[in-house]
Amino acid sequence: MLGSFTILEWLLLAVALQQGLFALAWLAVSHYLAAARRSAQAWALFCSIGAVSLVLLALRGHVPDALGYTAADVALIASSLAAWRASALFFDVANRGKEQAALLLLVAAAALALGTDPARENLRIALLFIPVGWVALRAVQGVHRPMVGEFGTTLTWSLHVPALLSGLFLLAVGIAAPFMVGWHGLDPPPHSPARILLVLGLLAMASCLSLIYAGMLIARLVRRLRDLALKDTLTGLFNRRAAQELLEREWKSYRQKDLPFCVLMIDIDHFKHINDAYGHAVGDKVLAGLAARLREGTRPSDHAARMGGEEFLIFLPQTEIASAQAAAERLRQHVAAWTLEPEHLSVTVSIGVAQAAAEDEAFDDLLIRADRALYAAKAAGRNRVYLAATIEAEVTSLATA
Ligand code: GH3
Ligand code: MG
Ligand code: MG
Repeated sequence: MLGSFTILEWLLLAVALQQGLFALAWLAVSHYLAAARRSAQAWALFCSIGAVSLVLLALRGHVPDALGYTAADVALIASSLAAWRASALFFDVANRGKEQAALLLLVAAAALALGTDPARENLRIALLFIPVGWVALRAVQGVHRPMVGEFGTTLTWSLHVPALLSGLFLLAVGIAAPFMVGWHGLDPPPHSPARILLVLGLLAMASCLSLIYAGMLIARLVRRLRDLALKDTLTGLFNRRAAQELLEREWKSYRQKDLPFCVLMIDIDHFKHINDAYGHAVGDKVLAGLAARLREGTRPSDHAARMGGEEFLIFLPQTEIASAQAAAERLRQHVAAWTLEPEHLSVTVSIGVAQAAAEDEAFDDLLIRADRALYAAKAAGRNRVYLAATIEAEVTSLATA
């Protein structure tokens, strides 16, 4: 029997083998990667049912028509539905179960009703390709928004290309098929270069889809690792190490361009008392809530970090001291106006403000001056904003008096 296989059938079997191996690889990934278990399982299903469909297609003419046509068609739509489900699970969006069941039933009913009568081959193609193309486009549409949120607009559209192209191609062929007199669908002539190219295209597309899926998974894992390394888990703000690295880089760049910038050093007043009176868990809630207030009260270009304990740092690029003072005052009031519920607990913060000066040799010098201003704000009674420059002027005037 093997000797009677055409090149095209061998090619289809090769794509099926590739999909089968991909399915095994994705099953292994789903086993070891709890974060994407269900989505990777659905993707493995997409690859394995796709492989079955390709094997049946390759065996067309060698096996009963019910397998070579009807079962192959049902497997193809089922495989595309599994890919849709995998993408919905990956981005945690609603899975359109009813629509998917309806499409599966439609294709199965059409495949059964139309059978393998060559006269109705083009109609069979239409009733298979249009639903499969539709699934590809619906899958893309369903995940577009969360995908842009995670990967950005440009990367998202580039990743959409293979699914969009195959969806549009299938829709176009499906819609045109019933009107194409004398066209025999995907059947003879078996050795036409167009059909070989089509199968090679299928090979490329199938590889692309799994590579894209793998790429998205890797990108997500890398981002999670980076967040773990750079972000404070309680507040979601940069941690001390990240702040030091990031702010030092920004500091150098702003110094080179001779642009003004300021830092705010923020510390919660009497936080120890909050912990003592309400417990550590409420203290943690205050820290997370305060971080949210700090984010609300600053521009997107400002960087906020938790430097440790109940101490926060905000870096204000391209900001003169007067605007920084105003920003600090706004933040102080924004925090004071907030109450943590259900404890009905209010907190206040003290803020030290410093602007980068020509004599600062390193970023740390700037931090030290902001810290001194914060200390002075605490000493003056808390819940207030102090400028480093004011304290330095006072120290200078005391020294010269
Ligand atoms: P001051 O107004 O002078 O700043 O007084 P304070 O009580 O806020 O200052 P102090 O530095 O003495 O207290 C800081 C407290 O913050 C002590 C520590 O137990 C608490 N703390 C540090 N990290 C955490 C944390 O992650 N969660 C909670 N709940 N408390 C923390
Ligand atoms: Mg404090
Ligand atoms: Mg403190």
